[in-house]
Amino acid sequence: MPVAKTSRAKAPAGKTKPPAKAAPAKSKPDKTKASAVRYDPLAPQRVQDILNRLDQRYPNVRCALHHNNAWELLIATILSAQCTDVMVNKVTPGLFQKYPTPQAMAAATPEQLEPDLRPTGFYRNKAKSVVGASKAIVENFGGQVPDEMDKLLTLPGVARKTANVVLGSWFGKGVGVVVDTHVHRISRRLELTKADDPKNIEQDLMKVLPQPKWIDFSHQIIHHGRALCIARRPKCAECPIENICHAADKTWSTVEIHKAAKP
Ligand code: SF4
Repeated sequence: MPVAKTSRAKAPAGKTKPPAKAAPAKSKPDKTKASAVRYDPLAPQRVQDILNRLDQRYPNVRCALHHNNAWELLIATILSAQCTDVMVNKVTPGLFQKYPTPQAMAAATPEQLEPDLRPTGFYRNKAKSVVGASKAIVENFGGQVPDEMDKLLTLPGVARKTANVVLGSWFGKGVGVVVDTHVHRISRRLELTKADDPKNIEQDLMKVLPQPKWIDFSHQIIHHGRALCIARRPKCAECPIENICHAADKTWSTVEIHKAAKP
């Protein structure tokens, strides 16, 4: 069947168009409402929700590195770089039997310690660091591990992560947030930071977390990273924060995924 052509009707010459009817006023989008529902991963309520669930799941968590004093914790933390706490805990009993004090370790050469530290990896550098840190503690701090960030950072092999571990876990001072591989990965998955280097991640976490939670948060996230929020194939179906986590690499989800929430 042929399709009828349509032509646009022309207005007769000389006649003016009737005035257009006023269009009904469009209602403007309610910006207040829109911003109120916009997702904010750093909203205090959400952050508190995460903290509460971590408290419930991981109550009374402690540092997993075995130690009897601040110096042992410092040495164990230096050795834990790129190594599991389990392996460090295997190495330190024999090490502290041979070198029971900062003075004893300061009197050794790095080469003497290397065979003991070999299982922890990067043992040459670690041997230099632990001997150097012990010497500095003996020479500059009367054999006592200092309890201030600035002073700890003067010790060879000690950066903010190690200093935060010692200050938080031994001295009970929450002056920063420990950012290890688990805190790094999970803080990004939870959109608590977009930074990708430990220094900036720590600064972001210090802004968003209440200060009294700085020590516990790291311990809990480290446990969470080992138990459920593992690097490959996190166990999201068992996770207590699943319905407020939008991580891009979730293995199971009841909420929408945010592509940028990557580890
Ligand atoms: S839901 Fe999955 S990705 Fe998110 S915190 Fe839990 S285990 Fe990690």
